Amino acid sequence: MIKITTCAPDTCGCKYSYSWDTDQNEDVRVHTLHQVIRKCPAHATLTDQEIWDEVHNGENRRKNLIRKAIVKNADNRLQHLVRWLGEGVDQYPDLADGVSYQWSWSGTGKNRVLNVSLVGANLTNPQKLLLQSMADSQFGAGKVVIV
Ligand SMILES: [Zn+2]
Repeated sequence: MIKITTCAPDTCGCKYSYSWDTDQNEDVRVHTLHQVIRKCPAHATLTDQEIWDEVHNGENRRKNLIRKAIVKNADNRLQHLVRWLGEGVDQYPDLADGVSYQWSWSGTGKNRVLNVSLVGANLTNPQKLLLQSMADSQFGAGKVVIV
């Protein structure tokens, strides 16, 4: 059965809907743009397909994936960023108490830059550079700035 889901991501004021098939297995399920309902000022010049590509598949994922990557890849140089939750094999890392992930966007259209800051982490410059190179290798240079 084809379902329509409406989405208003927290990365901007755009709103759109997409369709997906409940009969498709989750691993192979394809989400397809159904309708753009609202374009925010930052994305006003984009086509509907670009809204789908940039806002849904680009910005929203980048914002979520960089937080995950920071937590997952925090090695001994960044251990103070992380605390471990869960028990035994179900243990997983998350940001430490007192560290909060904050983000904002600069620019408009297709080339918006995600500015990431880890408030409370008191990152040294070498630690910021480490996170910056991780972000660059995952998303390409100029997509994420660690501030
Ligand atoms: Zn938008």
